[in-house]
Amino acid sequence: MAETHDTPRDLTRNQGLVLGTLNRSTAPLSAYDILDKLREEGLRAPLQVYRALDKLVERGLAHRLESLNAFVACADAHCHRKGLIAFAICENCGKVDEFADEVIEERLSGWAGRTGFKTERTTMEIRGRCAQCLKAAA
Ligand SMILES: [Zn+2]
Ligand SMILES: [Zn+2]
Repeated sequence: MAETHDTPRDLTRNQGLVLGTLNRSTAPLSAYDILDKLREEGLRAPLQVYRALDKLVERGLAHRLESLNAFVACADAHCHRKGLIAFAICENCGKVDEFADEVIEERLSGWAGRTGFKTERTTMEIRGRCAQCLKAAA
């Protein structure tokens, strides 16, 4: 079954609004950032945003960046079939690049197999400076 990056039709109104906000944003957003942007749409309670985010994350349409306590829309149509998601976070401009790496994933699943650890999910967060910021600073 091929997942596409189109917004699924079976999202609730709030889920669709939250995903749309994440898709339009170039930087990760906290739940409160999202709520701020959706007040005009009638969202009032943080819980409405959290519930929508929970479902979006569960379906792999959005990801939570643990170290920032913020959310991004999934940039990779296929990522929710993979065990590992990696994010490169620029500490200067806030840009987040999502990618996957099969070699790292294989190493980690080899480790999990040897130690008998059952992995639920793996999220890597790499912090530093993106190429554009480095170029601008040079
Ligand atoms: Zn993703
Ligand atoms: Zn940057």
